[in-house]
Amino acid sequence: MGKEQHTFDIYSPPKIEFVRGEGARLYDADNREYMDCAAGIAVNCLGYGHPHMVESLKKAAEGIWHLSNLFEIPGQQKLATRLCDNTFADRVFFTNSGAEAMECAIKTARRYHFETGNPDRVNILTFEGAFHGRTIATVAAGGNEKYLEGFGPKAPGFISLPFGDHEALKAAIDETTAAILVEPVQGEGGVREVPGQCLRGLRELCDEHGILLMFDEVQTGVARSGKLFAHQWHDVEPDLMGIAKGIGGGFPLGACLAREEVAIAMGPGTHGSTYGGNPLAMAMGNAVLDVVLEDGFVESVNDKAIVFRQYLSELLDTYPDLLEDVRGSGLLLGMKAKVPNVELVAALRDQGLLVVAAGSNVIRILPPLVVNDEDMREILNRMRAGLDAYQATMAG
Ligand SMILES: *Cc1c(COP(=O)(O)O)cnc(C)c1O
Repeated sequence: MGKEQHTFDIYSPPKIEFVRGEGARLYDADNREYMDCAAGIAVNCLGYGHPHMVESLKKAAEGIWHLSNLFEIPGQQKLATRLCDNTFADRVFFTNSGAEAMECAIKTARRYHFETGNPDRVNILTFEGAFHGRTIATVAAGGNEKYLEGFGPKAPGFISLPFGDHEALKAAIDETTAAILVEPVQGEGGVREVPGQCLRGLRELCDEHGILLMFDEVQTGVARSGKLFAHQWHDVEPDLMGIAKGIGGGFPLGACLAREEVAIAMGPGTHGSTYGGNPLAMAMGNAVLDVVLEDGFVESVNDKAIVFRQYLSELLDTYPDLLEDVRGSGLLLGMKAKVPNVELVAALRDQGLLVVAAGSNVIRILPPLVVNDEDMREILNRMRAGLDAYQATMAG
C-alpha cells in the first residue's frame, strides 16, 4: 500500500516533489531550493513564473481554448509569420511536440519528391547518435537500437551513417535519397556539435544531388545556442526544420518550417493534427517570441554562455579525474565525465543542482535562458560541492 503506481514504469524519477518555481530555481515540498539546469530538457527557456508568460496564459485562458484547424485559429498567422521573418522558412505547420514536427518534416520531404516526379526518392540519411523522437518513424530516424528493440519492424527509409564520415555519406547518396537529416548540435547524443564546415558541406551535397536538407532544431532552437537557431551560426540554410521544446516555453508546441517550394507539396488533406496550432499554444508561442525577439535578448544569452562556459572549463583543471571536456553551443552545454555520468547527475542533485545525462557519458547543462549572474554563481558553487562530495566517496 502507498506504493501504488498507475503510470507506465518508463521513467524512474527521484523522490522529490517540486511544488513551485521561480526563474532558474525550483522548490520542493520542504521548500528546499534546486538550481534548475534541466529546464524541462531545454523547454523552459524563460524559466518559471515569467510575468509575461503568466499574463499571456491567463489572457488566453479567458479566450477560446481550442478551435479545429478547420477554422482560422487566432495567433497562428502571427506566429508563423514571425518564425518565417526570422528564418529561411516561408511556411509553417504547427504540432504539439518535437517528434510530430519531425514526422511532418519527413513526410514533407518525401511528398516533395513525389510531387516533383521522383517518387522513388524516399530514403532519409541520418547520423549515428541522433535523436529525433519516440514515434515509430522517428525512432527509425534516430537509429538507436535500444529505442527500436521490441517494437516490430523498423520503419523503412532511414539510413544511419557514422558521425563525421564524409566518404560514407557520399557513398550512401543515390537516386532513392530524399533528404539528409541532422541536428546542428546533437543533444541526447552527448552535446556533439556538427562543425559549420560540415553543415555547409551537407548543403552543397544536397544541392548537387537535388535532395533536401533537414535540420532538427527541436533542442537547439529558440536562442538556446546563442543564436535564434543554431544553424544561423554557420551561414547555411535547410529546406526543412523541426522545432519544439523552447518555442512553447513549457506549453506543448512544435512546428515544421519549410521553404515555399517544398511546403507546396503538402496540399489540402495531405496532413493534419487535431491540436496542433491551437489557440492556447499560439498564445504561448507568441509570448515566448515577444521576449526572445526583443532587441538584445539572443545576444544576452550568448554573452552569458561565454562566461558560464569559461567557469565550467575551469572545473576541468580542478577535477581532472571526474571531467574531461566542456562542449556545446550557447546554453546547450555538456561536460564529458570520466566516471559514470548518472552518478554525477545524482551527486549534483544531492547538492540541489539539476542536470541531465546524455549519450557519450556527458552531463548536459541547460539552464533557462533567463539565468542571471547570481544564478550562475550558485550553479557553480553547487557543482563544486557535488563534485567534491563525489570525489570524497571515490577516495573513501
Ligand atoms: C526532444 C527532441 C525531440 C523529440 O521531441 P518530443 O517533444 O519529445 O517529441 C526530437 N529531436 C530532438 C533533437 C530533441 O531534442
